[in-house]
Amino acid sequence: MIFKLIKISFAIAVLAAILLFYFQLWPFWPVLLIILVYAILILILSTNVQLNFFVKAYNKNPDFSQNVISLSFDDGPDENTLKILDILDQYDAKAVFFCIGRKIKEHPEIFKEVINRGHIVGNHTFSHTRKMGFLGSRTILNEIKKCDEIADEIGEVKMNLFRPPFGIINPKTQRALSKTGHKVIGWNIRPYDAITKSPEKILQRITKKINRGDVILLHDNMPNTAPILEQLLVILKQRKIGIVRADKLFDIHAYN
Ligand SMILES: [Zn+2]
Repeated sequence: MIFKLIKISFAIAVLAAILLFYFQLWPFWPVLLIILVYAILILILSTNVQLNFFVKAYNKNPDFSQNVISLSFDDGPDENTLKILDILDQYDAKAVFFCIGRKIKEHPEIFKEVINRGHIVGNHTFSHTRKMGFLGSRTILNEIKKCDEIADEIGEVKMNLFRPPFGIINPKTQRALSKTGHKVIGWNIRPYDAITKSPEKILQRITKKINRGDVILLHDNMPNTAPILEQLLVILKQRKIGIVRADKLFDIHAYN
């Protein structure tokens, strides 16, 4: 609704600016400025899942009854996922894994292992393409459906949770999700483990601001993540912060 209003205001502003320019009451640069401001606004709204603008996402739950946080892992299943699973087992911690359909196909046994060890899995599209922000709603819909199908075929689960690749939720994603009905799980702590080299820096980004009900975004395909997780779990234990699965943190169903 708000987005429709923004679109209408934008169209009116551009039209008015062009008319003013045509009647030589205005130079052309304000037209460009309006278009630029609109483009930046859409970029900010589409790439910040925490803003809950196009879709309501579950990013944190500070009101949860216990002092716990939730761990989420994206971009698997992968050989590195097995190390993560072993570490989580040592601390009896359960997490959510947002899996890429193409990789579920590549590593079906690891995918099943994630489920068998008591974790939950969610949809992270089939291909996780870098063009995510430019796809049409039908293509996004197919990406989500294809990932669901392969997960059901291999893991016998009907996934209800979705995490958008790169956190991109634009009107096209919104349209696709209105058809599939998935619940979107965002995050509020992102230590950039997929792009930062220094494990100390990654760990520091998590631990310096961790609070009750936080959702941490990590990547189980990154070789750095397992040793970081090991240290993180020690720190959480020292601070008496527990770990709860995202479906329990938000009281929603992981599967249909
Ligand atoms: Zn991803």
